[in-house]
Amino acid sequence: MSYRSRYSSLFTYPPLTLGTIAAIIEKQQPTWEIEALDEISRRVDFSKEYDLVMITITTPTACRGYDIADTFRKKGTYVCLGGYHTTYNPDEAKAHADTVFVGPGEYSIPEFLIDYLNGNAKPKYEGGCVLGKDILAPDRSKISHKKYLKYPAVVANPGCPNHCSYCVISQMWREAGARPIEDVIAEIKSLKSKIVIFFDPNFFGDREYSIKLMKEVTKLHIRWAGSATVDVGFDEELLELAKESGCNGLLVGLESLNQAALMGVRKGFNKADRYKEAIENIKNHGIMVNGCFVLGMDHDTKEDLMDLPRQVNELGINLARFSILTPIPGTEMYQKMDEEGRIIDKNWANYTQHQAVFKPTGMTPQELEEIYRYVWKETYSYRNIFKRIRRIKSKGISAKLIGFGANLGFKYLGME
Ligand code: SF4
Repeated sequence: MSYRSRYSSLFTYPPLTLGTIAAIIEKQQPTWEIEALDEISRRVDFSKEYDLVMITITTPTACRGYDIADTFRKKGTYVCLGGYHTTYNPDEAKAHADTVFVGPGEYSIPEFLIDYLNGNAKPKYEGGCVLGKDILAPDRSKISHKKYLKYPAVVANPGCPNHCSYCVISQMWREAGARPIEDVIAEIKSLKSKIVIFFDPNFFGDREYSIKLMKEVTKLHIRWAGSATVDVGFDEELLELAKESGCNGLLVGLESLNQAALMGVRKGFNKADRYKEAIENIKNHGIMVNGCFVLGMDHDTKEDLMDLPRQVNELGINLARFSILTPIPGTEMYQKMDEEGRIIDKNWANYTQHQAVFKPTGMTPQELEEIYRYVWKETYSYRNIFKRIRRIKSKGISAKLIGFGANLGFKYLGME
């Protein structure tokens, strides 16, 4: 299951999870016929018969995932649920499945398959700590690329050493190790693509590993993009290597310009007063910066948020992406807000990061949503887009055209 609107999916890569699950099953059961289906590309055909249905869900796709699970179970099909929403809410998911998977499936799915074939599958399997060497390359032949970004994504290191309180993916993979570099390089070579996106939540999170990886990537003569924390902007060695290895874009989690808000979500390692310097350093290495902001953290004020469009220009960010803080059920942040009576919406389908599902501290939920819409609209007004394009230092027209196209794309993304 994949929550993405039809348009926003064009800005993201096809879901790797389905291909990875297929690869895990194929390794153990090479003769099985496997069909992977992502509802962004194609709706589920309930008239088809399957022996086993495995569904991976995020919070906004949980309700749809449960409907699908219930429908197949009514037909007598054995149904499993996994994914981060199941990991954080196994008891809720269990009401809709015969078996639930908590955490990554690298070890638990093979264990389940043995039990399933012996007729004694358990109701719950724990993923445990996955070693990098055991993370398989996804079977991309099973993933539909329709309606997605055409560039392939690769995972080298799924973990992150940080503990931002709203981040579920890194918590799920915290214990996991990075994949052997030779496996990652072999996978990239097999893709035969000149552009690759690293889907690691924090590419430079393990500094020494990222250095070794970039040295090997340099030999491939490709271009790549990835995600990073803003402190990479102060690490000359990493930036030089990133440039040499073909990095031309980084998605940087700036989140807020309010240091107290950053501290409140355990992201105090971001120093808001040094963003400009860091962004300039990154851009001086020929790397575009796509800055991400989360709106509605405690300590955020209306004035802070309304000022974001101006700050985006002031900081020199090439592209900015905004989302509303969304406490994911099952996490510490959600539990705390629930205890404080601040969760106002428990329909998981609304946990899309476009809606306020909680009471923020500095404004009403309605005000937060209005500000969110304003920030997208104002940041991507033609006046502001042209301001950013004019500041692109490249003498050639192509960088400006690419910048304009990307800004236009984000303008429509924000209008959805
Ligand atoms: S730095 Fe990024 S990936 Fe790491 S915990 Fe924070 S939000 Fe998650």
